[in-house]
Order: sequence, then C-alpha cells, then structure tokens
Amino acid sequence: MKDSIIKKFSVKELDAELFTPFTISTGSHRSLENLVFTLEAAGGVKGCGEAAIATHITGETRGRTAKSLRRAGELLTGLNMDNYLGALCKLEEALDGNRAALAAAQMAVLDLACRLQGVSLWKFFGGRTPALKTDITVVIGGADAALSFTKKMRARGFRIFKVKTGSDMDEDFRRLEAVKKAAPGCAIYLDANCAYGAKEAEKFIAKLAARGIRPAVLEQPVAKDDLDGLAYLSRKLSMPVCADESAYSLDDVFRMIRAGTVTAVNIKLTKLGFLRAREVWALARAKGVKLMMGEMLESELASAAAAEFAGGLGGFDFTDLDTPFFIKDSGMTGAGFLSRDGVYSLDRVKAGIGVLPRGEK
Ligand SMILES: [Mg+2]
Repeated sequence: MKDSIIKKFSVKELDAELFTPFTISTGSHRSLENLVFTLEAAGGVKGCGEAAIATHITGETRGRTAKSLRRAGELLTGLNMDNYLGALCKLEEALDGNRAALAAAQMAVLDLACRLQGVSLWKFFGGRTPALKTDITVVIGGADAALSFTKKMRARGFRIFKVKTGSDMDEDFRRLEAVKKAAPGCAIYLDANCAYGAKEAEKFIAKLAARGIRPAVLEQPVAKDDLDGLAYLSRKLSMPVCADESAYSLDDVFRMIRAGTVTAVNIKLTKLGFLRAREVWALARAKGVKLMMGEMLESELASAAAAEFAGGLGGFDFTDLDTPFFIKDSGMTGAGFLSRDGVYSLDRVKAGIGVLPRGEK
C-alpha cells in the first residue's frame, strides 16, 4: 500500500539529566546523550528508534552515529514497509560498523511496521511473557551510597540488585555487604565489566561466599578477549557466567556457545541489532545457555523495545532493563506500562513499542 512508503526521517539529540552518575569499572555516564531516529510513512504513521551512545564501552560516538542514521534515513526513504524485512536486511549491511545506529534504525522500522499493522512489538515477537520485572543497578561508588540506594529501591519494590564491581576490591566487599544488609533475601547479580583476571574472579567469589553472599549470576568477570578465562570460570563456579562485552557479535556468540565457554549470554540490541539478537536467542535456547536481556544507558523508548523483544520471544532468565530509573526526564510519553518498581506490563502495549518522544503521534 502507498501509505506505508517511507517519505521522511529525522535524527534528533536526546539529552537528559541523571539522578546519579551511572558508573561502571570502565567509565561513567554523567548525563543521557542519545539520539532518536524517526521515520514517517506517507500515510502519516511514525516509528521511532533510540541509539544508545556508550563511548566508554563500544567506542561509538554521537557524531558518527548521527551520520550513520542520516545515511540510514536516506537508504530507507522511498522503501515500502510492506517489505520491512528487506529494509531490516539493508540496514544490517550498511550499519554493521555502527551497531548503536543499526539498533536504532531497525527499532524505528519495526516500530513503524508494527504500528501500520496495529500490533505491539511484544506481540510481533511472539507475545510469550506478558510481564517482565527488571533488576536495579547499584553503580560503583561508596558503601554508604550502596546502602542508601539499595534501601530506597527495596522499599520501592525492587527485589534483584545488580551490583557493578571491579574498581576497588575491598570497597566492593563493603558495598556488597551493604546491599545484602539493606535487601535481605533479595537476589544479587554481579557485573565486573571486564575488571578481573580469571583467578582473581574465582578468589573474589570465594571471599564473597565466606561472607554469605552468593550471586545468582556473574557477568563479564574478565577481559573481552579472555575466552579461556570465561571458560575456566564457567567450569569452576556454580553460578552462571554471563558474557556481555565478549558477546558483541553473532560469530563471537556462536563460537562461545559451541565451545561451552559461557553458561549465559547478555543480549543487547545496541550490540547486535534485532536480527542478530534473535539469532543469539535461538542459539542459546537450543543449547540450554541462559539469557539476560540488557541495555546500555537508554530511555523508556529503547528499554521498552528491549523488554518487548525479550518478553515476546520468551525464555529469558535475567532482565536488566533499569536505566529509565536513572533518568530524570527523558521526554518520552506512553511508558505507563512500566511501573515504578520495574515491571514492564507488555500486554498493555497497543501498537508498536508504545513509547514516543513528547510531541510525536
Ligand atoms: Mg554488563
């Protein structure tokens, strides 16, 4: 149909303040500095995607990503969304070197295609899990900050605390003891963002066990390329060892899963785009590897897209989609299906992702 031909696009900056800096072992976000990519079809229906810029993790910059998105817009203009899959495939090739742009452009295509069909992205991906509850991240900082943040978030209803570690080991022990004290009975996930050597990580986990702390999952304990280290820890530790930075491409994941290097994989759309993310999901499910759905620092738009992808496909063991709770006002509307205690009620989304920048319809 003619009204599903893309006639316009825009690339806009998405800036917002944070309640607290989002600090991990490799760097920090002091504010949200993402991009929103909007497509408009001839009939006036729009679709939006968000590019998450995490330079300290991916090396991608906002300037380069904006340029890639303008190129994506030019490629997509004139295409008919009746062939949305053709559009997604075109983007795979064109934006392979800039995955934040790939994720945003594919998100906008899928949002638009789903809105044109009058279905939610969650239903589009299978509609399997109607609600997902996210963990909440305890960022790197002092033990007092960890204690008060955990107390506050526990009172608000969060029950899983993902603790970022890897800056100072003694401080990390104090922080983890603070989290345990402030949230008794709650689950703890650990994410070291590449900070340790394999033996060091093993020792760290043993010392935590001596303090009565047993994380439910250990994410990216060692450097990105240290696959031997990941394999060693997967054999030695009783909890799942999850690849995040090491799982940046489909072939990385294929190799790791085939070799039994990891027991869990963190899927992020910003690393893989939608098509490859679905392949990783299929491979992991086929081989009994656990799955985490994660994100970079993202507003409700990209976070909801990730939640709908994961909840639609189903079978995810860990949900780490909490960054909207760090952002003061992202300027997004329609995210009422995400509650203050971190539940994404996906079956309430009517069409597309369900979230749009204020002023868009
Ligand atoms: Mg991670």
